[in-house]
Amino acid sequence: MNKAKRQAVIAGNWKMNKTRPEAKALIEQIKPLVKDADCGVVVCVPYTNLETALEATKGSNIKVGAENCHWAKSGAFTGEISADMLAEMGVEYVVIGHSERRQYFGETDKTVNQRVRAALDAGLKVILCVGELLEQREQGITEEVCGMQTKVALCGVSKEELSHIIIAYEPVWAIGTGKTATAEQADEVNGFIRSVVAGLYGEDAAQALTIQYGGSMNAKNAEELLSKEHVDGGLIGGASLKAEDFSIIVKAASK
Ligand code: PEP
Repeated sequence: MNKAKRQAVIAGNWKMNKTRPEAKALIEQIKPLVKDADCGVVVCVPYTNLETALEATKGSNIKVGAENCHWAKSGAFTGEISADMLAEMGVEYVVIGHSERRQYFGETDKTVNQRVRAALDAGLKVILCVGELLEQREQGITEEVCGMQTKVALCGVSKEELSHIIIAYEPVWAIGTGKTATAEQADEVNGFIRSVVAGLYGEDAAQALTIQYGGSMNAKNAEELLSKEHVDGGLIGGASLKAEDFSIIVKAASK
């Protein structure tokens, strides 16, 4: 089965949470709980916590990610952080195109694509978020929206570079709401995204791509979601801030 060949990755998205001492304490709690994980484990943390996270995860199986990066290499972009700055620190992953960036900070498909390009050029691995709004699902245009977001974000990305990308399907109506997509809905859209990628890069590349689900995944529903053919891990918001819950999701992905 193709699913068995893909690497499952569980990534926490801490959003705008945790001071440095709190970040260190949470990572120290998570470390022993996930040390035997048979999947990738990533914590994506606020910029201010990156150094703390890198230090605390040294010698462990936990990788560190940022939650965004700018598309320019450097310059007059007050308040922004470049991909090169992250790479220089030793950060490995970056989340790009999260729906909260799209909703609250004017992120567009074009700027998502520019950020993806900058991240790849800096040698970072990208967790690329796509997903539909509730009204788009109700209008029956989930596939159009996710297909377009995926295609635009991957403009100018080579087949080789695709191996540095994880796509996270995150229906916006399920993020932070406690409303999870059913395992069938998640599998259906993840499978559709895989078919879009197959159209761009060929079936082999699409079958090798890790496609996560994100949206109120938690310790209770993770096992069912992760059992689906096209769900190769999760991007976890709220539940990633509780070591025990996060580790239960990691264990579910390790099965
Ligand atoms: C997220 O922030 O990407 C997310 C999926 O959040 P939550 O798990 O809280 O819905």
